[in-house]
Parts: sequence; C-alpha cells; structure tokens
Amino acid sequence: MALLQIAEPGQSQAPHQHKLAIGIDLGTTHSLVATMQSGLPRVLPAEDGSFLLPSVVRYLADGAVVVGEAARQAAASDALNTLVSVKRFMGRGLEAAHQLGDQLPYELVMHDNGMPYFNTIAGLKSPVEASAEILNVLRVRAEAALGGDITGAVITVPAYFDEAQRQATKDAATLAGLKVLRLLNEPTAAAVAYGLDQQHEGIHAIYDLGGGTFDISILRLHQGVFEVLATGGDSALGGDDFDHAIASWIMAGAGIVNPDAEIQRRLLQTSRRVKEALSARDSVPLSLAAGTGGAPADWQATLTREHFESLIAARVDDTLKACRRALRDAGLKPADLSEVVLVGGSTRVPLVRRRVAEFFGKPALDHLDPDQVVAVGAAVQANILVGNKPDSDLLLLDVIPLSLGLETYGGLVEKVVPRNTTIPVARAQEFTTFKDGQTAMSLHVLQGEREMVSDCRSLARFELQGIPPMVAGAARIRVLFQVDADGLLSVSAEETTSGVRAEIVVKPSWGLQDDDILRLLRESQAAAVQDMQARALAEARAEAERLWIATEAALAQQGELLSASELAELQAAVQGLKALAIADDAAAITAAAEALNHASETFAARRMDAGIRQAFTGKTLTDFEEH
Ligand code: ADP
Ligand code: MG
Repeated sequence: MALLQIAEPGQSQAPHQHKLAIGIDLGTTHSLVATMQSGLPRVLPAEDGSFLLPSVVRYLADGAVVVGEAARQAAASDALNTLVSVKRFMGRGLEAAHQLGDQLPYELVMHDNGMPYFNTIAGLKSPVEASAEILNVLRVRAEAALGGDITGAVITVPAYFDEAQRQATKDAATLAGLKVLRLLNEPTAAAVAYGLDQQHEGIHAIYDLGGGTFDISILRLHQGVFEVLATGGDSALGGDDFDHAIASWIMAGAGIVNPDAEIQRRLLQTSRRVKEALSARDSVPLSLAAGTGGAPADWQATLTREHFESLIAARVDDTLKACRRALRDAGLKPADLSEVVLVGGSTRVPLVRRRVAEFFGKPALDHLDPDQVVAVGAAVQANILVGNKPDSDLLLLDVIPLSLGLETYGGLVEKVVPRNTTIPVARAQEFTTFKDGQTAMSLHVLQGEREMVSDCRSLARFELQGIPPMVAGAARIRVLFQVDADGLLSVSAEETTSGVRAEIVVKPSWGLQDDDILRLLRESQAAAVQDMQARALAEARAEAERLWIATEAALAQQGELLSASELAELQAAVQGLKALAIADDAAAITAAAEALNHASETFAARRMDAGIRQAFTGKTLTDFEEH
C-alpha cells in the first residue's frame, strides 16, 4: 500500500523526490528483485512470501504464460513447452544454441532473422521473449510492493557476457517495460552488497557459482572505488552439472538407458533435491520401484556426501583453474587477496567451500545470503543511479574480456583497446592510406589476443568511402572505439582532413562462448613466439611492398634521370625484393629492402636535384626573395 506523504505548509517534503529503483538478478536458475528502503536493502517477496523466482517459463496452448514455481512443477510433464535455463540461450546463434539444446529437450528453429527460437505449443518464442516474461513478473512484483511506477532498473549479467548477450538482456528488459539504468556484472554487484568499498581497502576475489554459470572476478577497492582487475569463468558450469553427475550415477545404478525427456527431467529434479540435502547431511537414501523412471527393477541405494564429492571434484577443480587464470591475468598470487566472497546457491556445497578456502588460503566471506547478494548490490547501484543518493561517489568499473582492434595491412591486428581495459572507454587511433590516390578504406573490427587476423574473431566490417585522393600516407583516418557502460561497442572512422565519416555499432549475431574466450586466450599465450615471428614477417612484407610500389612509381615518372645500367640495377633490386617477399624469411626480406633503399640512393638524389631545378625554372631570384 502506498503511504501518503504529509508535510507542513512551507516545508515541502517533495513527495516524489525518492524515485523507485530496483535491482534485478536475472539468473539462469533463479531470479529476484530488490530495492532500497530507508537506506536498507530489501529483497521483495512474491505473494506466497518466497524471494526466489525460478527462471522457468511455460507456454500453454491458449497463449497463456506461466512463470516461476508453477512452471517448474510442470517442467517434467510438459518439457517441450517449459523453458528452463533460458539465460544460456541469450544472444547465442543457432549453432551455439543447438549445442546447448542437445542437453535440453527443446525443439530449436532458425527464425528468418537468423536467431534460434523455441518451437512451443504457443508458437515460436525467442530467448529474449522468455526472459522478458521473467522480468515482467518481477516488475509487477516490485510495483505491487512499492506502490508506484518503477523509474529504472539495474539488471545483472555474468561478467563474461559478450556484446550480443548483453544486448539481448537489454532487449528483454525493454520488452518487459523496464527502463534499464545499467547492466552490471554479477560479481561486481556482490561486492557492492558486501559494502567492501566501505570496509576494506584491498584486492578481493568474488567467487560466484550458480546453477548454470561460474564467474570469478578480481576487484581492487581503493578509496571507495571499485576497479575490476580481471574476470574469468565459464558460462556452462554450475550446480546443474552437479545434478547431472548425480543423475548419471542413478541411471548407471538403476540400469536406466535412454530416458525420454520427461524421465530425464524428473531424474534431474530428484538429483537436485539429493544434492541440496547433501549440503546439510552426510548421506541420502534413494529408491526406485521397477518401472518408475524407466528402471528395469526395484533399486535402492544411498548416496554419501563423500561419494557425491568424488562425482563433482573435477568440476570444482575447473572453477579453481579459472581462478588461477584470473589471478594470473591480474598479475597476482592467492596470498595478495584480502577477502574472498562466495556468491550463488552452489557455494553452499561443502566441498566447494573447502576447496575455495584451500585455494585462496583463507575462509571466504559468506555471511550474506549467497542467493540474494547480487540483487542487493544491483539495488544499491540502481538507487544511486536514479539520484536518490546525490552525495554518493560509488563508481563501478568493469573490464572488456578480450582485446578489440582493427585489421591492418598484411593481415595483422592492431589492438586499439587491450583486454581488461575498464569500461566505459573511448580510444582513438590514427591510420593512414597505403596506396597513392586511395579513396576508400575498409575497416575490419576484430576481437582476440592474437597478432594475425585469421586467429582472431571477426566482429564487423565497414567501409569509409569518399576519402579525397592523396599520396599514400597523407590521409589521416581517426578510428574511435567506444565501449559503453554496458559493454556495447561502436566504432567510427573519420578522415580528419576532409571530415568524411563512417560508423558502425557492433552487434555480433551470436555470442562468443566462455570456452571460446578461454581457448583464444590460451592459444594466444601458447602462440606468442610464433605470433611475434608472424608479425615480423607481415611487417617486413608490408614495408617491402610499400618500398617497391614507391620505387616503381618514381621510375615511371622520372626513370629518364638514370643511365641504362643504373636503371637495370634498380629494377633488379626491385625484382629481387619481390621474389624474396613471397618466402617466409623476415630477415631476408628486410635485407633485400635495405639493398633496394641503398640502390636507389643515387636516384633519390637526382630526383631531388631535378625537383629543385624545376622549382627555379622560369623564376627570377627576386620572386623568391619576395615570398
Ligand atoms: P543462478 O545464478 O544460476 O540463477 P543460483 O545462485 O540461484 O543460480 O544457484 C542455483 C543453484 O544453487 C542450483 O543449482 C541449486 O541446486 C544450488 N543450490 C541451492 N541451494 C543449495 C544447497 N543447499 N546445496 C547445494 N546447492 C544448492
Ligand atoms: Mg547468480
């Protein structure tokens, strides 16, 4: 119920000054909404008092949509029309979606727009539409609890979400009638919820293991300001994998082969209950009557915590490997960290806590509810962004996961914004034309750590046209990379002497998976030496080509300045360089280029003399004195 604001005449309380702002944790497994009231965070419950909204959307034949616990209940019986883990599909192309879809019982269809849709009884539904249904329930919940329209929302995303995934999340929010104040990385939100900025200076690790995603972030807190030093993780690793491990164990034990979609779903639900019970108990008994779940005979067994731990140990170790990589990216050792924060329901698993504490050499902070910290942090941030705390100086800096750059001559990548640069960021770099009279330049935007274009991921291509013809190297093309606070990239190019401009906003049609990011990083480390050689070779070739083009142009114009033998010598040097440039020996190409430079010295001197003579021709000395 909304409260009336009562104010003395002349002492207006400006009743609408406090704007309603919410923070939403749009999770793979659960979603929740929080707000700030009288300076304190409050997670908003549903009518039945529950805080966690299962991120499950069920489509019915009559077009009605069911979201949350009721949908989850129906997941086993109506698997095809009940979408779980829809977050995993956000911003992904058909190929990636099919890979995910293999583990889930959906029928994926390629839409005319090139994106994958779920074929449900109510028609084709996109991951964005399904997420919008979840967000809509949370918006309605917040409006009912707060008694008014919501001014804006901060929505959290995994730190590793790429451009397409972030854009898809924004689209879903817009579809749900929410104004997105900002997208915020989940681990960053957790750090805000713990108020680490006010309590501790230092470097902290945020370990977030949810149902479907794992994120590790290394944050530095300095004078109340957060900086994300490094992020890492895996968007396909979480408590769901623990459920699958138990389900496989049950299937092997009970002799279940090729379960259909509904049995699979039931097995997973049972496995999840068993897993969650094992966080508090040492063992859980299980039994299946013959026939149920496809079991050929009666089956009884007990899963001990110890055995469960052996089933998931490798996956837990995978999270620690990602932690090690993130630390290495930040140039840190575990001992450099002041605090470790646990986030996500799966950090309730005792083995996870033990291994994390061992790895970092200290027990983790866990006094806030690991389910709620992300939404609470988002609410704190939303409250500041709508201006309810004008004196606040909280600044959140996130980083880009992979370097962004442009293709340059010779198939090389020029990095413009290096990996782990904090966002928002704007970086400009100048490029120039390679050939005389070049009037167009094609720009190829790339993402990745490697030196060669073929080893990086292509994000977009566009053309800058209408460059006035000039000699090679005279045009000044200023390319500006801008990554906004949500991690969306736009690139513009401008020829500064003429003002010709072209621009592109990069929205790749599908996302890069975390595995891809990790693979690209690993490859770039492994290939560093090879890449340096490749770069040296490409640079030597580009320089050689520039040189012979310039020499040939000069010969065409003023070859008559040379004697026949001098001309022959120079042409031979050009041919020698061209022949060598095809081979893979950078040093030899450079030597041949130097030889050509040397051979053309006389020629250059004569051209200069000729140029001076030409300038004087027909002019008297006084002409020059006057000017
Ligand atoms: P997400 O961020 O992916 O939505 P959550 O942070 O809500 O995920 O975590 C959900 C995961 O946490 C599920 O896999 C769930 O089974 C697991 N989980 C919740 N409670 C427990 C528990 N007591 N023990 C083990 N796992 C738990
Ligand atoms: Mg989460």
